[in-house]
Amino acid sequence: MKNNYEIKCLNCGKHLPLNYKYWKCIKCNGPLEVNIQKLNIDKNKLSKRAFNLWRYREAIPLNGKIRVTLGEGGTPLIEKEIEKHKVYFKLEYLNPTGSFKDRGASIAVNRAILLKAKRIVEDSSGNAGTAISAYSSAARIPSKIYVPKNAPKNKKNLIKAFGGYIIETKNRETAAKRAISELGEDDYYIGHSWNPFFIEGIKTTAYEIIEQNNWQPPDKIIIPVGNGTLLIGLFKGFKEMLTLGWINKIPKIIAVQAEGYTPLYEAIYNKKNKKKKSKLADAIKITNPPRLNQMIKAIKETNGEVIAVTDEEIITGLRKLLKIGLLVEPTSATAFSAFLKMKENIDTDEKICIILTGSGMKMINEIIKLTTVKNEK
Ligand SMILES: *Cc1c(COP(=O)(O)O)cnc(C)c1O
Ligand SMILES: [Zn+2]
Repeated sequence: MKNNYEIKCLNCGKHLPLNYKYWKCIKCNGPLEVNIQKLNIDKNKLSKRAFNLWRYREAIPLNGKIRVTLGEGGTPLIEKEIEKHKVYFKLEYLNPTGSFKDRGASIAVNRAILLKAKRIVEDSSGNAGTAISAYSSAARIPSKIYVPKNAPKNKKNLIKAFGGYIIETKNRETAAKRAISELGEDDYYIGHSWNPFFIEGIKTTAYEIIEQNNWQPPDKIIIPVGNGTLLIGLFKGFKEMLTLGWINKIPKIIAVQAEGYTPLYEAIYNKKNKKKKSKLADAIKITNPPRLNQMIKAIKETNGEVIAVTDEEIITGLRKLLKIGLLVEPTSATAFSAFLKMKENIDTDEKICIILTGSGMKMINEIIKLTTVKNEK
C-alpha cells in the first residue's frame, strides 16, 4: 500500500522523508507533525469494528497495518451526576498499562517497528515509560527507559516487570537529556513529548468521546497537562472530525496544571505564577514542554482555560473520586479537582467531560496515606 501521510516541521515548514527517524527537525530543532493527506473514513463502517483505538485506523498514519497491539483504547465513558452537574468521565486509566499513554505508545512503537528499530529509548516520569516498556516487549524489541529516581516506586517496578532496562536519573530534566546524549548507533529514541506519531495515538481519544456521546461534542473537556500530548492530541482529533463534517464545534479545553509547574498557565495569562511546588502531581511536573506553542494554540482556538491546582485540592479531588468508586493517581485527580474548584461558574446544563488519565492501582500505598481518615473509635 502506498504511503498516504506526510511529516513536516511545525517551525520551518520543511517536509521530511517518510522514513525520518529523528524526533525533531534537524534543520531548526522544531517539533514535527504527521498528517494523513486525504483523510477518508466512512462513519458507517465503524459499528462493525471492535471498540478499540484501531476502529479509526484510517486516521492513523500507519497505512492500515497493525503490527503490535495490547487492545488499547475503547475505554468507557460513564455519566455521573455531581451536585446537579452532568459529568462524563472518560476512563483512560483502564488502558492496558493503566494510563492513556498506551494509545501513544502503541502507535509510536508500531512506527518504531516500521523503521526496524533495534532498541527503543524513552524518558518518562513513569507512565509513558511503563507503556513503552510493555509495547516494546510486545514487539520483541528491547527498551531502555530513563526515569527520575524519585518517580513512584511501582511505576519503576512496572517498567522492569515489562522487561524495560531502567536507568534512574537525578530528575525529570536529566532523564530527557541523558536519554538523548547517551543514544547509541542502534538506538531509536521514542521521546513521546516530541514524537508526532505518539500524538496520532492520543488523538483517537477525541474520536471515541464523540462517538460514545452520539456524535455530539461535550461543551467542555477538562484534562491534566504536562508535556501537552493529551491536549494537542485531543485538539487534533477534534479538528479532523470538524473537517470530516462529523461535528460542528470543538469543545472548550480546560487544561489543569499543578502549582509550581505552570508553563502553559504563565504563557496564556502572561504572568508569573510562583507558588509552592506540587509534590503530588508527579506525572505533570514539567517546566519546559517542547510543544508549548501548540499547547497555547489549542487553548486559544478552543476558547479554553488553564487552571492551576494545589496539593490540598488534589487530595480533595482524590477523596471525592474514591467516594464515587473511581481510583486514579494524584496527577489524574487534578482534572476533577479543577472541576470542583470552578463548578459554580459552570451552567448545570453544560455537558462536561473529564478525562481520568492514570490508574491509582500503581500508587495505592501513596493514595491510602493521602486519603485515609482515621477510623473513629
Ligand atoms: C502523562 C500524564 C499526564 C499529562 O500528559 P501530557 O501529555 O504530558 O500533558 C496526565 N496524567 C497522567 C496520569 C499522565 O501519565
Ligand atoms: Zn524545522
